[in-house]
Amino acid sequence: MKIAVINSGSSSIKFQLFSMPEGEILAHALVEKIGETGSKSIFEYGDKKREITTAVKTHHDGLKLINTLLREHHIVEHFSELDAIAHRVVHGGESFKSAVLIDDAVIEKIKELILLAPLHNGANLEGILISRKKAPNVPQIAVFDTAFHSTMPKEAYLYALPYEVYEKHKIRRYGFHGTSHSYVMKEAAKEMKKSPKELNMITLHLGNGSSACAIQNGISVDTSMGFTPLEGLMMGTRCGDIDPAITLYLQREAGFGVDDVDALLNKRSGLLGVCGSIDLREIEKRDDELSKTAIEMMVRRVKKYIGSYMALLGSVDALVFTAGIGENSHTLRAKILQNLEVLGVELDEEANRQNALLISKKSSKIKVFVIKTDEELEIARQSEEVLRKTQIIYQAEKYI
Ligand code: ADP
Repeated sequence: MKIAVINSGSSSIKFQLFSMPEGEILAHALVEKIGETGSKSIFEYGDKKREITTAVKTHHDGLKLINTLLREHHIVEHFSELDAIAHRVVHGGESFKSAVLIDDAVIEKIKELILLAPLHNGANLEGILISRKKAPNVPQIAVFDTAFHSTMPKEAYLYALPYEVYEKHKIRRYGFHGTSHSYVMKEAAKEMKKSPKELNMITLHLGNGSSACAIQNGISVDTSMGFTPLEGLMMGTRCGDIDPAITLYLQREAGFGVDDVDALLNKRSGLLGVCGSIDLREIEKRDDELSKTAIEMMVRRVKKYIGSYMALLGSVDALVFTAGIGENSHTLRAKILQNLEVLGVELDEEANRQNALLISKKSSKIKVFVIKTDEELEIARQSEEVLRKTQIIYQAEKYI
């Protein structure tokens, strides 16, 4: 079964074609700087790689280019030959608790949710609308970044604001990176030869964007990102948790406009704001005080989330590190896990240095894993599941 996964961003399209259920990648494409003068595209299949520098004016042109490349390399003649096209959608609001088959009603809902994620959902929707036009007979599936966290209880997702603010404006915590947390949780469960339902875990997605998730018996019960992906851990350019009164002060007393505050918190804070670089590899090599402080700040915040999630969960079977920093920085992982023996975490320093899959000692009560995230594969798997279920429903309807 051939399933294409499309991640349509504001100026880019990431495309991955899978053969399922094996999860084999048949082709991978990345079209960047759509609408700008210097569009650049990369197309990979097997062990071959092509770079294309032709101008890509619109998302429509981007998908057309990908289709042409697939045809030229005899991978697929046309999108209409695919078994399914799966789309990453960032915000599913309260409407979507799992992946769904896209119909007109789903499209209307995703449109409504643009308000909650203006930068993302609009671009995601564009990818869906173009693919539907190009391949009207192929099932299209939406997989939401928020869906995995839809199991959070009310006490986790409500802010201590007047209840009517939630009712009227839907201001609550939604959580993001759900596809990644869900993927690494399942992979860790496989390693432990148990069902996710039997396990409690804390998953740490540490990249440019970072979030932690408390997972109880296989479902998310708390996560660090909130109404937007700004809350929680310290990130590459995002500040994470701050006193919300700072934003008021900046506007009242420091001459900031709303957009200035937005840019400050989202684009100029985090690692970049404290020490001037977004790249942890570079920061780890530096010797100046602010770079060291930035690392200590990041570590401290992650530790605080681990501690609070342990208190919430009561017992924890595994800690999982993933994403660019989580998968690669053994020094940051070692700092985060330092002095956690009292909580049942014993680090195997050699395994950690080697970025091994299991980095805790045999005697460690809590297992610690480093697992490479694969959001595209998780999206393909969830889509396969949707197809399977709809097929079952379709077959059942035939017998009514
Ligand atoms: P995104 O959220 O954009 O997908 P990534 O998951 O790719 O981000 O993570 C990017 C971060 O991972 C950067 O801070 C980068 O410096 C860091 N990173 C990648 N490789 C290493 C490494 N070998 N050592 C330390 N940090 C690394």
